[in-house]
Amino acid sequence: MNLSSPIEKEFRVDKRHKAAFVRLGLTTLRDLLYYFPARYHHISNIKKIAHARAGKEVILYGRVVSAKMSKAYRKKIPLAEAIIEDGTGSIKAVWFHQAYIAKRMKKGDMVKLAGKVTEGSSGLYLANPEFEHAKELPMDIGTLFGKDTQETLSYPVYPESRGITSRWLYHAMQRILGSGVMEELRDPLPKEILKKYRLPTLRTALVWVHAPRKESDALAARKRFAFEEIFFIQLERQRVRHAYRQNPTFVIDVEKKEIDSFLKRFPFKPTGAQESAITSIVSDLKKDTPMTRLLEGDVGSGKTLVAAATTYATIMTRPLKRPETLGRSSQGDDSAQRQDFGNLQVAYMAPTEILANQHFESFIEYFEHLSINIGLLTGSGCKKFPSKVNPGKATKISRTQLLKWVENGEIPILIGTHALIQKTVRFKYLAYVIIDEQHRFGIKQRMELVQKDGKVPHLLSMTATPIPRTLALTIYGDLDLTLLDEMPAGRKEIITEIVPVKKREEVYEKVRKKLKNGQQAYVICPRIEEPDPDKASALRVKSVKAEAERLKEKVFPKYEIDVLHGKMKPKEKEDVMGEFANRKTDILVATSVVEVGVNVPNATTIVIEGAERFGLAQLHQLRGRVLRSTHQAYCFLFANTKTKQSLGRLKALTTAKDGFKLSELDLELRGAGQLTGEKQWGISDLGMEAIKNIKMVEAARIEAIAMMEKDPGLKGHPAIKERLSGTKADIHLE
Ligand code: ADP
Ligand code: MG
Repeated sequence: MNLSSPIEKEFRVDKRHKAAFVRLGLTTLRDLLYYFPARYHHISNIKKIAHARAGKEVILYGRVVSAKMSKAYRKKIPLAEAIIEDGTGSIKAVWFHQAYIAKRMKKGDMVKLAGKVTEGSSGLYLANPEFEHAKELPMDIGTLFGKDTQETLSYPVYPESRGITSRWLYHAMQRILGSGVMEELRDPLPKEILKKYRLPTLRTALVWVHAPRKESDALAARKRFAFEEIFFIQLERQRVRHAYRQNPTFVIDVEKKEIDSFLKRFPFKPTGAQESAITSIVSDLKKDTPMTRLLEGDVGSGKTLVAAATTYATIMTRPLKRPETLGRSSQGDDSAQRQDFGNLQVAYMAPTEILANQHFESFIEYFEHLSINIGLLTGSGCKKFPSKVNPGKATKISRTQLLKWVENGEIPILIGTHALIQKTVRFKYLAYVIIDEQHRFGIKQRMELVQKDGKVPHLLSMTATPIPRTLALTIYGDLDLTLLDEMPAGRKEIITEIVPVKKREEVYEKVRKKLKNGQQAYVICPRIEEPDPDKASALRVKSVKAEAERLKEKVFPKYEIDVLHGKMKPKEKEDVMGEFANRKTDILVATSVVEVGVNVPNATTIVIEGAERFGLAQLHQLRGRVLRSTHQAYCFLFANTKTKQSLGRLKALTTAKDGFKLSELDLELRGAGQLTGEKQWGISDLGMEAIKNIKMVEAARIEAIAMMEKDPGLKGHPAIKERLSGTKADIHLE
């Protein structure tokens, strides 16, 4: 047995096991060891049914007396209902919205239920308990929990997957822990750090996580692994930062008064926050170290203006004549060295074609007076401004032509989607890269963009995604942070209402009034199409397609309605957005694709269906779509939930105006299992636990920064180096 041997070599496994391992990404014994319990059950919680008391968490074993599917609450909620008995008594268990559970148990089956005892009108019952088939009753604790671990006070419950049970995992772990393979483990965390933060060593932590003798051991182990995860993310980010900033870059130097005169052309005055963001960026651009900065600003805070002003600074700077004087050695340059033609280039990357188009249109407006070329590059086509035949307009051109002009430097501003980072796109003097909503682009993609021509451009990432500070410090650990924490003046605050179903018609009446005044509205639905009819009963969730039809027929027959969702082709989306922007359509029924940055100032109302299905921060992003004008904007939330908790969560939206506060709240309110860190940020549920803890995040960050400063090559930390190599941050920029 060794840590890298395949699981199937050491354990008897069948096809179903194998499929489950693939699904869970488990190959070796080492992987298995790092598959942690979701929870622990305390043996003292195992009760005879007769001893179950209301309000207590219990684990019950018994035989199924009966099991059936049923419906409750005016036959609206499907459920499974079972009675189990264990010789001392019997108790009912109910699973709301999970009627299928009834099919998984037969009369006489031995089952284990774990959950909270609730007092109902007809006696005690368990609501939505965890359920599994049990092979034996726990009378003989020795056989159930392994002979050596009789002292164990709590035992782990692993996340199960079809084909693999918590019990199987438990026994497998015990065998690995008891074998010699543990000797192979090398702790990647330095001893000093373990000592400083009182964290258990790797071996101890693995034992404590899989077979804790007391709850505090399990907690200490989890804390260690959480710290470890955040520490390694921080190290990765610090390494990227360090590597990036080693490279030479262009020095961009434009007088403040030039930028001021550019800003004067706008019909409004920049906010104080915009001014100071521009100032910090401009002072970064002057340096010979490449900027890596994050501009974080709530929706509507005016990030585009910051992007435009700093783009202006870049394209007004002439490239230096001799390439060898670029970058580091260029500090003492004087204007005599400057070339008379050509501009430094800016690449502005948007997450969607809709947005790329929108930025293209805005930038034409902002830069029209300079008679410079602006290019648009997306998966579905390319454009150039100005058109030769019609200088006031943009024209479609071939990709090949556009790329040629970009390469020979004739296009100083190139706007586009991720098509911008393909290897085929070569710039002459790429000096500044702006990435809108960068969390959709991984670090690796970002690096591909900057590697292209040996030198690296200054980098500005912009995001409106309100995320908690601890998360920002972690996932954006390689960037300097600038906040746009001030809204442009004159904006009315958006009115947000949670609407009870019976007031639906009143809401529609309000929307009609807005439409009558020539304003537009969004209706957001959680799904694109009706789920297939079999599952429909369980999921009463509005879909874009069906809702659009219903609104057209029954609610707003006089108005033009269109749909927008992620499954449409980019061209289709662009057309739909174009028509909406030009007021050809009055109502846009959409999924959350409109979440990111879409700007139609005339849209002043947003109706969100199934609001309970969205995170607070996401809802805040969505309502940001109607924060774009000086009209009073409304956000109406319909929720398919009556639970106090979900409604309370939504209520936060009606009072909090700040996306960052909402994201903190989201983090606080999310229970285990609802954390979507893995999918969104590449952070495990365990790591997300750490994200809730500012002290731990700061400690991990401080240690990572200190280590990178002292030993950037990680020569003194081979175990850490080994662990980092092969991760996505292992990119050499030199
Ligand atoms: P976001 O930060 O969400 O990207 P935008 O840059 O799209 O915001 O700006 C939102 C709207 O606010 C745009 O219509 C923009 O023209 C306008 N705007 C930006 N800055 C100001 C300002 N200082 N005063 C008034 N309006 C502004
Ligand atoms: Mg934007």
